[in-house]
Amino acid sequence: MTVLLGCIADDFTGATDLANNLVRAGMRVVQTIGVPAEPLAAEVDAVVVALKSRTIAPADAVAQSLAALRWLQSQGARQIYFKYCSTFDSTPEGNIGPVTEALMDALGTDFTIATPAFPDNKRTVFKGYLFAGDVLLNESGMQNHPLTPMTDANLVRVLQAQTRRKVGLIDHVAVAQGPDAIGERIAQLRAEGVGIAIVDAVSNDDLLRLGPALAQMPLVTAGSGVAIGLPANFGIAPSFAASALPAASGLRAVVSGSCSLATNRQVQHFVASGRPALAIDPLRIAAGVDVASEALDWAAPLVESGPVLVYSTAEPGAVKSVQGRLGIEEAGAMVERTIAAIARGLVGLGVRQLVVAGGETSGACVQALGIEQMQIGPQIDPGVPWCHAMSDAAEGVGLHIALKSGNFGTDDFFTKAFTVPR
Ligand code: ADP
Repeated sequence: MTVLLGCIADDFTGATDLANNLVRAGMRVVQTIGVPAEPLAAEVDAVVVALKSRTIAPADAVAQSLAALRWLQSQGARQIYFKYCSTFDSTPEGNIGPVTEALMDALGTDFTIATPAFPDNKRTVFKGYLFAGDVLLNESGMQNHPLTPMTDANLVRVLQAQTRRKVGLIDHVAVAQGPDAIGERIAQLRAEGVGIAIVDAVSNDDLLRLGPALAQMPLVTAGSGVAIGLPANFGIAPSFAASALPAASGLRAVVSGSCSLATNRQVQHFVASGRPALAIDPLRIAAGVDVASEALDWAAPLVESGPVLVYSTAEPGAVKSVQGRLGIEEAGAMVERTIAAIARGLVGLGVRQLVVAGGETSGACVQALGIEQMQIGPQIDPGVPWCHAMSDAAEGVGLHIALKSGNFGTDDFFTKAFTVPR
């Protein structure tokens, strides 16, 4: 079994985003949680190793990325893709520069590209400047990010501050002309001693023109957008077969620990549809009540006849008040633990189709379910595919799971998800 494209993603939901794009371009994809200890569970064209390395110390990010690289190489990966955020989230120390450099050294290559462009998500790069929607990155709100404030939209400058390699630009003039012009520009940059080139792209057509020019590169670094142009290099075209999962069966449930606006609307929509829904109260968890057992007792008789929802989702005012009494982190961790226990308990009751809302909540649930690998299936809404995974809680039977980060999904997501063919 040989993997064609080996991907290293610097966070969990970013990994799913990349995997989703590769599947839509025709590749069969598995996402792993960390560097796997086990062999691959399915035959696939691409693997995305999900790390949590975006904001850790650069030396740790490098070590984890190199471990992922070694594992991907052991699976035969022909090309390596380092995936970061479409807003180029990083600090002046890294980790995009240090990880890119370490991967280049390990792969023995003196040139790669870097571009977070993802036009489907309104991230475009022009003259090396990154736009989020209609404004420059440093006017988009990202300048105030608590961990990775992005105060400069010029990616050549941003990346140059993080790396010893010389950073250059493949600008839109070359990209608009197509793969040959891009190839000529790359040759020119190499001759000038450039090691990493930011690439302009303002449309999917730009990314599709870029794809063929990357065919021989041992390493590509990018957001998830560039992925749409790579499968064709391996002779792969979009197909329904790429997203095929084993047939779904078993009971259905939704757990939600997300308090984002979209999730609040989705919870309201589910409740208004008359389906069974249970709100859990963080203050009762804090008071020592076994809220998870209560929720499972509530769900057991109901889940037999259709999807149930268990949620801690609340309006901003209620969340603030809980956070004020328990502390932000303590409240978050406690709710995550409880929802993860409920997810595991629901699978114990026979749930085999599970929707989880919330990025951090998803991480907690995947961990509680002992999931190490997920095969990526059809998309429910942009960025949210159904996945298939083995879980020790499911007694050796596969489980269908969809992990929805906060603001993704239409209002009817919690009911629509179960109607998507898979
Ligand atoms: P999102 O993807 O919407 O950001 P996350 O799961 O990443 O969702 O984050 C939501 C955080 O809020 C989690 O840590 C979760 O445990 C916490 N949380 C959920 N419900 C409540 C609540 N009612 N009060 C306080 N914190 C909550």
